[in-house]
Amino acid sequence: MARQAKFLSVLFALLIFSITSAANVPQFSETAITPELRWKKVTIPVAFSNSLLRSNPAIRPDSDIQGAVRRSLETWEEIANIEFQVTWTDKLSVSPAGNSGDGTSLITIAQTPENLLIFGGDSDEISARTRVFFNRRGEISEADIVLNPYQQFSTDGAFGTFDFESTLTHEIGHLLGLEHSTVVGATMNEHQGKNGTFNLSSISPRSLSEDDITQIRAIYGARDAEDCCGTVDGKISLSNGKPLKGFNVWLEESETGRVFAGTKINTDGSFLLRGLQANKYRVYAQDGAGGFGGQDLGEIEISKGKITSFIKKITPSAKDFDVQFTGFNGQLSKLAVPVNGGKSYQIFVGGKNLNPEDFQIGVTSPFFRVSSGKINKLDYGRNISVFSFEVTSLPETPTGEYTIYLQKSDGEIEFLPGSLAVENFLNPWNIL
Ligand SMILES: [Zn+2]
Repeated sequence: MARQAKFLSVLFALLIFSITSAANVPQFSETAITPELRWKKVTIPVAFSNSLLRSNPAIRPDSDIQGAVRRSLETWEEIANIEFQVTWTDKLSVSPAGNSGDGTSLITIAQTPENLLIFGGDSDEISARTRVFFNRRGEISEADIVLNPYQQFSTDGAFGTFDFESTLTHEIGHLLGLEHSTVVGATMNEHQGKNGTFNLSSISPRSLSEDDITQIRAIYGARDAEDCCGTVDGKISLSNGKPLKGFNVWLEESETGRVFAGTKINTDGSFLLRGLQANKYRVYAQDGAGGFGGQDLGEIEISKGKITSFIKKITPSAKDFDVQFTGFNGQLSKLAVPVNGGKSYQIFVGGKNLNPEDFQIGVTSPFFRVSSGKINKLDYGRNISVFSFEVTSLPETPTGEYTIYLQKSDGEIEFLPGSLAVENFLNPWNIL
């Protein structure tokens, strides 16, 4: 009699996404998983392979690997109730796919056949992959990370390389049980840019977005946070009572417009967001596939230790345009555009049926202004329509991810949640 598998494993990948024209737009999809994954104990042993420290064409000489390892672990430890137990090992290869691993959560970059298998045929596109072993209750027993030995990593922002620290921070999120985020500027978003995207050396976030913080606190609880955490238990149906399908919901801080959490709604129209800081938020929903417009569903107040229910009926309306890319410095991408407070920048959007004369453009935050007279149509070929507009942020704009929206004269609206990121690092390409 065949023994029933006690363990399942799942793969997560971090993909690079940036294009300069509409030609050969790659299509990606990843399968979502069902049980919530978590480590049972909050002290998590991780073993770093010495292959990360040896001279290696995949790592630029003089990179500060040990510093980046320490910082990427601390980034998660500082905000959630977890602690890593770090060792260094001569082990090179991760556990192969299967029902269970070898018990060691290995982080490696060694070019071994076992490690290369994890990328399948995708080693051109992917910077790293994490294989998580867990049981039916979602308890993680091991999570192995391979940094793609066919790519090059650095810690100094060198153009054309991946930032080692932000790549590792993303994969550590998977090791802890996080899935990809629906918020564009989140560290846990599935898309990553190489250094040099938008002509900037820092493009991939090393720090966590509010959405990353909410998601990790939902699993492990907060470390030293006064106002944490509350839950929203939501359900959105169509006006005829049928469940809404395929939509994403997200919460923006009412006062600032910063995106604090996002998720896909379940097939019965329900959604649950835990780990939220006590605060007032606006709730938004939008079709993940782009066929229907987005809606502002009103305000909700979250209190510490409480579950707030949010029940809405909506009538989605079909829209005939689709924003597929945002961009900057002539490049279109699936990434957030990093900007600084107190400056003006030219932002690009690209997609289907985008005629600038038809649209009003804005940001769902009182800290931004879009200059209506400075919208330019650009030629990126026949398959895509692209235009640019000028955004100005106030000097006191808090760091975080903000939402650009495009509204057509007939009222249809598309939100780009988290697509504008106010960062601490300098984006010198502002309009003077
Ligand atoms: Zn990933």
